[in-house]
Amino acid sequence: MVDLKTQYHKIKEEIDAAVIDVLESSAFINGKPVQEFAGNLASYLDIKYVIPCANGTDALQIAMMALDLQPGDEVITPSFTYIATTEVVALLRLKPVFVEVDAKTFCIDTKELRKAITSKTKAIVPVHLYGQAANMEEIMKIASEYNLFVIEDNAQAIGCNYFFSDGSKKKTGTIGTIGTTSFFPSKNLGCYGDGGAIYTNDDTLAAKMRMIANHGQSKRYYHDIVGCNSRLDTIQAAMLNIKLQKLDEYIAAREKVANYYDKAFEHSSHIITPYRASYSNHVFHQYTLILERVNRNGLNEYLASKNIPSMIYYPVPGHRQKMFASFNSSAYNLPVTDWLTERVISLPIHSEMDEEQLFYITDAVLKFVNS
Ligand SMILES: *Cc1c(COP(=O)(O)O)cnc(C)c1O
Repeated sequence: MVDLKTQYHKIKEEIDAAVIDVLESSAFINGKPVQEFAGNLASYLDIKYVIPCANGTDALQIAMMALDLQPGDEVITPSFTYIATTEVVALLRLKPVFVEVDAKTFCIDTKELRKAITSKTKAIVPVHLYGQAANMEEIMKIASEYNLFVIEDNAQAIGCNYFFSDGSKKKTGTIGTIGTTSFFPSKNLGCYGDGGAIYTNDDTLAAKMRMIANHGQSKRYYHDIVGCNSRLDTIQAAMLNIKLQKLDEYIAAREKVANYYDKAFEHSSHIITPYRASYSNHVFHQYTLILERVNRNGLNEYLASKNIPSMIYYPVPGHRQKMFASFNSSAYNLPVTDWLTERVISLPIHSEMDEEQLFYITDAVLKFVNS
């Protein structure tokens, strides 16, 4: 699905030198590159605070821990997302409330979101799925009406620009109360192992999240609140400093791939290509098709026989996971989520694809769906 090796070889000299620098400095934990990266990412995102942490799941957990939510408080999330988004809600003894997604954007349906609000609702966790932003303008309107926190799960959309109706522009993840990111290797800004970050403009929350990620201490060995141990490795930060400079270039390369796919599939009555909302660009973490009247497993196997990877993100939505049985989650009626779960398929997309590969892939997909 991604070609991390080719990408590495293009920047090998810089990456190798950065790693050797860290090895020579022996500052493996909280070395200089970690704070440098936090500063670089903060300027890229145009946000006041970036707190690096160990992975994107921890980022969500630390964000939710900082909001002083009480057991049983309700957190609204889409069901159609990676499990990390909803898992941490349950882990913190909060109640995940699963909401339908929009059939076009794959992101939380704001009309259904409004209906799901109760007196116990405390937070909304929109997910910018596959690199397409959720309708943040409407979500922020609802959040301010009901006085709710908004944690943007930005793991799949780092670098995405959101355009407000008043003409202003912000990066996704910097619009809500807190934004979270993952640097898992295959993410648009991936490191060479695990990594994550949390961002906010709120001074108090920033200080608190920094403490939570560091065993609840701001002064060494004085632990004021219960926290955890969640750090970004110095080596990963050093490499991320290099890759962050290339992020916009990587996003542009992904968009070129998406444009090629769009054009190749535009006349197929069996394929719905990804929708691009007018309020944001699309950073194409995934290129995900909706298939109509196509045997999806058959397509997946046919592509595999031609050495073309394809993936189903996600085969089981949150409300149908056994993990959430105690929330009576199977009683939810989310027809769009179920419909998408049965029809989506993601094709390879990354910064290193050439036209020959794209021709080979689109030719194979069209041959199968038209047969
Ligand atoms: C990858 C991802 C995460 C979790 O990131 P990790 O670094 O793997 O913990 C959370 N949410 C979404 C939507 C993701 O895609």
